[in-house]
Amino acid sequence: HAKEKGGNLMQFFDPLLALAIEERRRLESELRRAIREREFVLFYQPIVDLVQNRLVGAEALIRWRHPERGLVPPDDFIPLAEESGLIGEIGLWALEVASEQLAQWRKHETQLYLSLNVSARQIPDGLPPETLFETARRHGFAPESLALEITEGVLLSDLGSAAQWLEEIREQGFPVYLDDFGTGYSSLSYLKRFAVDRLKVDKSFVRDIATNTSDRALVEAVIAMAKSLGIEVVAEGVEDAEHVRLLRGMGCRYAQGYFFSRPLPIDEFCALSDDIPLLLRNTEERFSH
Ligand code: C2E
Ligand code: MG
Ligand code: MG
Ligand code: MG
Repeated sequence: HAKEKGGNLMQFFDPLLALAIEERRRLESELRRAIREREFVLFYQPIVDLVQNRLVGAEALIRWRHPERGLVPPDDFIPLAEESGLIGEIGLWALEVASEQLAQWRKHETQLYLSLNVSARQIPDGLPPETLFETARRHGFAPESLALEITEGVLLSDLGSAAQWLEEIREQGFPVYLDDFGTGYSSLSYLKRFAVDRLKVDKSFVRDIATNTSDRALVEAVIAMAKSLGIEVVAEGVEDAEHVRLLRGMGCRYAQGYFFSRPLPIDEFCALSDDIPLLLRNTEERFSH
């Protein structure tokens, strides 16, 4: 009898699947080591104000300095970190590092803000509002200096507790940005039910605004809608001066993308910050006649 069962199981043994499971297990234990050995690092990408032509802040983006594989991008390990629950610890590490950076800037009277990505899986228990508040107080910066970037998925997961988390952190003064706007399933009614401070229009919509009239109309509509709700817009994926010109014309106030800079290690980010106003003034002059 038992032999029969075993035979059936063998029939379904898939060497490729077994390999994938093994690979996954290996990556997960490497992630645990990475947390222990502090192999993660935050890179910083400028967020600019297109009205005042200046650098206003940066998005903190995690990378994994893998001893053999080099710099591993977040898309290659964040999904597994989320599935395995390790995202909680990684997220708390990122919060601590970003907070130390803000404290550093405040000590030198630099008023830049930071925004930090938060996975749906971290909300609410992985990143309790009290932890955020306590961290800001301990490092001596105002909650207004640290924005939390969430995606529409957060609001789909556990409506009640996510809504309460959102309400509490906004009450304490932490700005909330809705990331990758337009790529999820969310309807506009979410914006009515869950107050956020900014929308980040996904880069897939920004990319072709110069050539694709429907993409341009879409971005324009999002900006107009946000304006009527009193929400600011950040355009992601701004890659050239034409993007900047078009977005300015649409009344988009904030922008982020390779045109200004790729995400950089902190020392390179600090070295670059002086060049941004000049870059922005140049885009204005170039198109002013
Ligand atoms: P995101 O939050 O939407 O971040 C923007 C992504 O677009 C970044 O990719 C950035 O490097 C890229 N990007 C910026 N400007 C341009 C541009 O002009 N053109 C193009 N093609 N891409 C641009 P990155 O750094 O690989 O991060 C990917 C995603 O990983 C992030 O998307 C975010 O969802 C997630 N992530 C990053 N850091 C963290 C973190 O600390 N915690 C969590 N939970 N997720 C993170
Ligand atoms: Mg983001
Ligand atoms: Mg995004
Ligand atoms: Mg994303």
